[in-house]
Amino acid sequence: MRAIRRFSVRTVLPEAIAPLGDLASNLRWSWHEPTRDLFAGLDPKRWKAVRHDPVALLGDLGTDRLAELAADPEFVARVNAAAADLDAYLHEPGWYTTHAAEAGEAGAPRAIAYFSAEFGITAVLPQYSGGLGILAGDHLKAASDLGVPIVGVGLFYKTGYFKQSLSREGWQQETYPVLDPDGLPLALLREADGTPCQVRVALPGGRQLVAHVWKAQVGRVPLLLLDSDVQANDEAARGITDRLYGGSGEHRLQQEMLLGIGGVRALRLWSRLTGAPNPDVYHCNEGHAGFLGLERIRELVQSEQLTFDEGLEAVRAGTVFTTHTPVPAGIDRFGTDQIQTYFGGDSALPGVPVDRILALGAEDYPGGESGVFNMAVMGLRLGGRANGVSQLHGEVSRTMFDGLWPGFDDREVPITSITNGVHAPTWVDHRVFDLAEKHLGTRLVADANVWDDVPRVPAAEVWGARREMREQLVLEARRRLRSSWLRRGASGAELGWIENVLDPDVLTIGFARRVPTYKRLTLMLRDPDRLRALLLHPERPIQLVIAGKSHPADDKGKSLIQEIVRFADDPAVRNRIVFLPNYDIAMAQYLYPGCDVWLNNPLRPFEACGTSGMKSALNGGLNLSILDGWWDEWFDGENGWAIPTADGVEDPEHRDDLEAAALYDLIEGQVAPRFYARDEESGLPGRWLEMVSHTLRSLGPKVLATRMVRDYVEQLYTPAARAGWALDGDGHPGARELAAWKQRVRASWSGVRVDHVESSGVSDAPQVGDVLSVQGFVSLDGLDASDVQVQVVHGRVSYQDELTDTQVVTLHHAESYEGGRHRFEGDIKLARTGAFGYTVRVLPAHAGLASPTELGLVVNA
Ligand SMILES: *Cc1c(COP(=O)(O)O)cnc(C)c1O
Repeated sequence: MRAIRRFSVRTVLPEAIAPLGDLASNLRWSWHEPTRDLFAGLDPKRWKAVRHDPVALLGDLGTDRLAELAADPEFVARVNAAAADLDAYLHEPGWYTTHAAEAGEAGAPRAIAYFSAEFGITAVLPQYSGGLGILAGDHLKAASDLGVPIVGVGLFYKTGYFKQSLSREGWQQETYPVLDPDGLPLALLREADGTPCQVRVALPGGRQLVAHVWKAQVGRVPLLLLDSDVQANDEAARGITDRLYGGSGEHRLQQEMLLGIGGVRALRLWSRLTGAPNPDVYHCNEGHAGFLGLERIRELVQSEQLTFDEGLEAVRAGTVFTTHTPVPAGIDRFGTDQIQTYFGGDSALPGVPVDRILALGAEDYPGGESGVFNMAVMGLRLGGRANGVSQLHGEVSRTMFDGLWPGFDDREVPITSITNGVHAPTWVDHRVFDLAEKHLGTRLVADANVWDDVPRVPAAEVWGARREMREQLVLEARRRLRSSWLRRGASGAELGWIENVLDPDVLTIGFARRVPTYKRLTLMLRDPDRLRALLLHPERPIQLVIAGKSHPADDKGKSLIQEIVRFADDPAVRNRIVFLPNYDIAMAQYLYPGCDVWLNNPLRPFEACGTSGMKSALNGGLNLSILDGWWDEWFDGENGWAIPTADGVEDPEHRDDLEAAALYDLIEGQVAPRFYARDEESGLPGRWLEMVSHTLRSLGPKVLATRMVRDYVEQLYTPAARAGWALDGDGHPGARELAAWKQRVRASWSGVRVDHVESSGVSDAPQVGDVLSVQGFVSLDGLDASDVQVQVVHGRVSYQDELTDTQVVTLHHAESYEGGRHRFEGDIKLARTGAFGYTVRVLPAHAGLASPTELGLVVNA
């Protein structure tokens, strides 16, 4: 093999059209159609050939053509108008301006760092594998729209995620095309003298990992991507950022050290270069970036002479952790020996003892494994605030991680939830926006009441747009299928049949997602004869468009893909079912608008949220899904269909049979009949279109990423920033005090007791409205009354003699006695009939706690 040294020559644009460079390098074009139209107009054929990549297009045009364009006054005017529009977008006040003003003196964060192992922003920058990355991309885009001062931090993977194709036999093939960062919309961070900035992270054996930092500009939001492929590194270190989720556990540990530790260092660099404020809040999107907390502790230990515990308090307060999966295989776990190797000895992080690090990631709770270092567990221990990504996932996560808060009911585990959302301008077809603009006078956007007016758009036009979008998908699917078959070894002459694959007037069902087992790609094949009958129904046929990548190491997933491909290869059905290789953003942008129904059939409750169905809904698609993730929360009986789950059924085979049968029944009995029931007069499927309209109206405002980012700002970022500031300041007195207080409380806690409880005020025959007065007598050992809160937990008593539907009332301190004894008292109004019960408990109390359950300490009566 020849070693080809490659580099890209950046285009020099003539002065008159120089703003094209800014328009190409700011990724706003990826969700701004007018900017894309401008580029497409430069050379429509080339635009297609470079797969809608503005940087590549400009590089391809050649100086003659560029000079020609620069001499065309009309074109120059268009460029200037587009540049002015981008400038206006970058500087207009957003929702955040109002938020910050309303926050007043209490303050709102000046900057928020958002760490993620993957970012899915555009197909041009393939730095994502699936939902997690797409979500991160949508988060940045929505933050840009709202003016939220976020800065993204990630890695630059030289080959990104793999490209998928199929062998003749339908087996997934992976290729790893090498990305050249110089040919991408990225800028290298440089020192004033032009040399590339360096970030360093210590590796075992005295090695230094050096990384360069690329910046992508996502509207107003900078995204910093660390790249280890630099000459200063040895061969092994250069390969650390070679690919997304590749290689061994050790490779991954090195990637995550670079992301977390190097990421914080990149932020300091960014601040030094640009004067940007250092973040007040650090958001750790899933556990991969968890080491960021350790690096920040190191900073405080070394520069402020805090102890580890004091640093931990200061860091925790301003950290938000989001967990994204209830699937154990989705959580990164390393061996404690690996952590020893990388953080022990002449450690990567001086001042941060490895035994403290190990304790943060230890599964030292019932059901946990010893010898294992769990990144999600560390994330929860380093994050003062934590959340799951849908209400159901919040609930599941509280159960999954309840071992970290022993003594509390699951519902009190301090993990909240913020349901994911999607970035409409990226995912919604322009036809939908055009209709809104034409009939409602505005684009569909967040918090405009415009969603309520959706029913005013004439049904015939909605149907017309839906047909166009379906047809657009059909044509794209044929194109992709043809090129897939050519790769699979077919000759063009054999492929005439592809002209008739899919029909723009047939009910189109989409199913596209990664292929882990719990997503059950092949559930639809459970009864192949029934599926065939649905596809080939003489009056009410359906057609299926399927896509999805399996992790390269997952042969089980690959065999599921092969099963689907083999079924779809059958000449008897191949006109009605296709598997399209290489699911990515570019394909997704055809799929969501083009499918009438979006199918999702995960094994409940393993789909933490799911977002593809939201993108479908915003395009007027109807969801047909198991009640899992977001659908469990927002299905309302009219905006799609719920596939009944057989949750209680233990035998997985039997469960699949039941759920598949329910799926076929729904399609046959409800979905297809409704799609094909045409009104006599108009020829439209009236009931179907009512569901479409209801879907947009009911789900539109909820599923937006702008709603999600506002929730993060209000519920997590702003409180986290304030908690951080309370522990901040010269010498960090707040952090020192909180750490000392926690130590004192932990040391004394074994002496805390509820001595006895008295009550009065309720007769033998209590009635609703009566007031129960409760007195709790407690011993606090050496603690003060102000160090604790004494609570009454009351509710209904169940048949198992347990409290349900509980509420909490905090008692106030009434009197102190000798020997550290105290009386607390308060009233409870009896508000419900039925069996009533209560109990008294003591918890730590401090203004610096994000939640009273934080320490996991409680004493029950
Ligand atoms: C939205 C999206 C996903 C995530 O979809 P889920 O419903 O969470 O599975 C994955 N890949 C691509 C390309 C997407 O656009």
